[in-house]
Amino acid sequence: MTKLAVVAVGGNALIKDEQHRQVRDQYAAAVESMRHIAAMIAAGWNVVITHGNGPQVGFILRRSELSRHELHEVPLDSCGADTQGAIGYMFQKALRNEFLRRGLNRQAVTLVTQVEVDPNDPAFQRPSKPIGSFMSEAEARAKQQTDGWSVVEDAGRGWRRVVASPKPQRIVERDAILALIQQGFVVIGVGGGGIPVMVDAAGDLQGVEAVIDKDYASALLANSLPADLFVISTAVERVALNYNKPDQRWLDRLTLAEARQYLAAGHFPKGSMAPKIEAMISFLERGGRQALITNPENLGRALAGETGTWLTA
Ligand code: ADP
Ligand code: MG
Repeated sequence: MTKLAVVAVGGNALIKDEQHRQVRDQYAAAVESMRHIAAMIAAGWNVVITHGNGPQVGFILRRSELSRHELHEVPLDSCGADTQGAIGYMFQKALRNEFLRRGLNRQAVTLVTQVEVDPNDPAFQRPSKPIGSFMSEAEARAKQQTDGWSVVEDAGRGWRRVVASPKPQRIVERDAILALIQQGFVVIGVGGGGIPVMVDAAGDLQGVEAVIDKDYASALLANSLPADLFVISTAVERVALNYNKPDQRWLDRLTLAEARQYLAAGHFPKGSMAPKIEAMISFLERGGRQALITNPENLGRALAGETGTWLTA
């Protein structure tokens, strides 16, 4: 049996730096990242690709804000769907070209993916994720009144909308993703952590104006397929203790107990490495065997056991 991996690609798979944010720059970055994933597929892995969408959602919201005198604004769940399509398109095109170059008879397909969240998730009590542009206090208060936004003052830089970041509970299209994998397709799904939805009183799905962390949603997907391996591809080759400090120490291998211990000791910051380590811990706690963090260019070497940070149960 071919082994199955969920590979979550981070923001750097599309935007290398602030000067390269245009669609053509994002595509160039996607080509580079997909080259390494195609090599993994050529080496015999079945791969499901997930990805972040933070900056891309920010661009859509900004356009929406700037044109609101003329056009309807775009709700956050729609932004999620839009970015899944646009990013999926870049990955599909890049993979198709790379498969052809390598003589691989494979096809990539993007699945618009909804992810169910719990209405009672404590995250809804304290929305924390800043979204959209800065506003004046008057504007923020008006949005609070008219649209029910939660708004906060952001460290003297102005006011911003904040939304909840609830935990993903269920991948709505899980069966479709699995069926596609079994048919040999390379699936791109759960983009941006998935489009958050809730089941209402009538049993219908409703889109939610929230964001789901892509690392947590990817871990949930990896468990629910289930996948043999969960890879988080980000901007670092390995995880470190005392990161960026004189006594920094790179980690090759981590047990579940060590991961929990280093997380509790504060080695991994909230907005970046902590959610990745937490996602890997939850993957292993729910029956996963192996998780890996590395960067796209070292994916092949890491899979050969030469680098990366491995977490094992
Ligand atoms: P992504 O966009 O892929 O989700 P993030 O920028 O959110 O990536 O998080 C990855 C970043 O976390 C790395 O590029 C690195 O700069 C930073 N980081 C923070 N703490 C650590 C650590 N202990 N070891 C390695 N990288 C760390
Ligand atoms: Mg991130």
